[in-house]
Amino acid sequence: MRRLVAILAFFASLAAYAAERPSLIVVISVDQQRFDYVDRFAPWFTTRGFARFTRNGAVFTNARYRHAVTFTGPGHAAIGSGRLPTENGIIGNTWFERDAPIDPRKWEWYFDDTTPWRPPTIRLTPFTYEGDWWWKNGGSPRYCVYDAHVKPTAGATDGMSPASLSEDGFGDRVKNRYPTARVMSVALKDRAAILMGGRRADAAYWFDWKLPAFISSTYYHYDPAVFSFNASIPGYLPASQEWRLLPSIPPAELERATFDPPAAWPLKNTRYGGTFPHPAKDIRAFTYTPFAHQMLLDFALHVLTTEQLGTHADAPDVLFVGVSSTDYLGHYYGPDSMEVADSMVRLDRALADFLDALERRFGDRVVVALTADHGVQSTPEIVKLRDPNADVGRTDLRNADPKARVLGDLPPARVAIERAVAQKLGIRIDEQTPLTDAFVYFFEEPSLYLNWRRIDALGLDHDRVKRIVRDAVRAMSDIGIADAWTSTDLLEPRANATQAEQFMRASYRSDRSGDVLMALRPGWIWTWGVNSTTHGQPVENDLHVPLLLWGAGIKPGRYDGDASPIDLAPTLGALVGVQAGGRAAHVLPCVEPPSVP
Ligand SMILES: [Zn+2]
Repeated sequence: MRRLVAILAFFASLAAYAAERPSLIVVISVDQQRFDYVDRFAPWFTTRGFARFTRNGAVFTNARYRHAVTFTGPGHAAIGSGRLPTENGIIGNTWFERDAPIDPRKWEWYFDDTTPWRPPTIRLTPFTYEGDWWWKNGGSPRYCVYDAHVKPTAGATDGMSPASLSEDGFGDRVKNRYPTARVMSVALKDRAAILMGGRRADAAYWFDWKLPAFISSTYYHYDPAVFSFNASIPGYLPASQEWRLLPSIPPAELERATFDPPAAWPLKNTRYGGTFPHPAKDIRAFTYTPFAHQMLLDFALHVLTTEQLGTHADAPDVLFVGVSSTDYLGHYYGPDSMEVADSMVRLDRALADFLDALERRFGDRVVVALTADHGVQSTPEIVKLRDPNADVGRTDLRNADPKARVLGDLPPARVAIERAVAQKLGIRIDEQTPLTDAFVYFFEEPSLYLNWRRIDALGLDHDRVKRIVRDAVRAMSDIGIADAWTSTDLLEPRANATQAEQFMRASYRSDRSGDVLMALRPGWIWTWGVNSTTHGQPVENDLHVPLLLWGAGIKPGRYDGDASPIDLAPTLGALVGVQAGGRAAHVLPCVEPPSVP
C-alpha cells in the first residue's frame, strides 16, 4: 500500500510538473550588449523582439556583474553557473599556469592571438626557443576552454571543453534533478557556448569560420544530425556582399542616438572600413556583421527542432544561446557607432522571429531570459573628439614579442615598472638588461605574474617584492591605473574594502591569477587590437547589462533593485524546483520563492 502511494505520488508529481512548470528554458546572452542599448535604440525596435521583455516581461534596471574582470569567459561562466569567477574558476579568457609544463602549442596559440608573429617550426624543434624569455620560467598560457584531451568534430582548431570549470552550473543542477532533461548550448564563440552549458551539457556547438561550420568536440554527446545546418551557411552572406545601414532608421534620430561623425571613422577599426557600407564578401567579414545574428538564431532553432527540445512530459530542457557578433563588431566600431545601432535593430528583428517561433511551439510553457556577458567602454580616441581633455586612454602592458631579448623591447610602461622596482630594491638595470631578468615575467589582464626564478636568485622576500610592484603600479596614474593589489591583499578579507577590491577578490583564484592585479579608471582600457575598444574593468559601462525575463512563471514588471546575471541560475532554478548558483546569487523577485525542499 505504501508503495502504491509512492508510485501515485510520483505520477502526481509528473502531472504537477506538466501543469505548472516550463518545459523549455532558453537563456540568451548578447555578447557586449550594454544596459543602455535597450532604451537607446528602442524607437526602432519591433513590438516582438526586445519589447516582448520590456512590455510583457520582467525588466531589471540595475543588473550588474559582481566580479571585476568583465570578459567573455568569466561572463558566460557566471551566467551558466550563477557563481563568481573565484567559485567557478573562469577568472579570465586566458590566464597563466605557472606549474604546467611548457606547452609549445599553447604558446603558439598565445602569440598567434596577440601578435602577428608565427613560430615557424615550433612543434618540430621546440628547443630552438630555449633562450627565449617565454621559455625560461616554465608554465604556459591557458585559454579558458582549451582541453588537450578532446578533439574538435571538424577543422584544425584545438579541442575545447569545460575542463577548467570548477563547479556545477545551472544546467548540471537541472540534469541532477531530472535525469531525462537535456541541456544544450550554441554560440559563435566556443567559450560562450561551452561555459554557459556547464560540465554535463549534452552538447555545445560553436562556429569555426575557417570551415565555415558549426562544430563541437569529442567531450560532448553531440548529434551529427545538427550539422546538416552547415550547408545553409553561405546563404546568409548578403547578396550585395555589403553591410549597409538600414534605411528604416531616420538619419536625424540616428545622429541623436550615436556619436559617429566622419572624423571618428578613421579612429574605428578600419579592417572592413570605418563606415557604411562595410564589405561582407567572405565568412570572416560576415562574422563582423549583424547577418551572423540571424544565422546563429536560426541555428539555435535548428538544434531545438532536430533535438525536439522542450517536448518531454517529465522534465524541462535548457537551451543556451550566445549571440557573439555583437561583440566582434562592437570592438571594431564602439558603443557610440552607427554600426552598433544598426546591429541592435537587426538583432531585434531576428529575435522577434526567434521568439515568435518559441511562442508558436510552446505557448506558455517556455521561459526566456536575456542578458549579456559584459558591457563595453567607448573607443578612447573617439571620446577625445568630443572632449579633448577627457580622462580616457589605453594602458599598454603587453608582453614582448616572442623573439625579443632585452627590457627595451617591452612597452614603455612595462620598462617604467621594471625601473621603479629595481630602484626600490637598489638593483641596476637598463634597456639592455636581458628580458629573462625582468621582475615581471608575464602580463594577462588584469594580472602581472612575477619572475620568481629571478627574485629567488636575488634572495628577495616574495611578499616584499609583490608590494613593491603593487606600489610602483599604483603610482602610475598617468597610464590610467585606478588601483592595484597583491595576491596576498586579495586573500585577506579587509573591512572597508572598496567595491573594486571586493569585485577583484571575486575574480581572484590563487591557482590561476597573477601576483599583482590592477583595475583601470573609467574610460581607460587595456590595449587591444588596433583602433578597437574593449571591456574588462569593474566600471559601470562594463558591469551594467540588460537582465530581462519573459514567459512561464515570470511576473512582469520593472524591478529597480540590485540584481545580477548570476541571479539567473537560482531564479530559473526556482521555476523548476532546482537549487542552483553560488554564494553571491539570489532568487530574483520576478518569480515565486522556491517551495521545493
Ligand atoms: Zn569582447
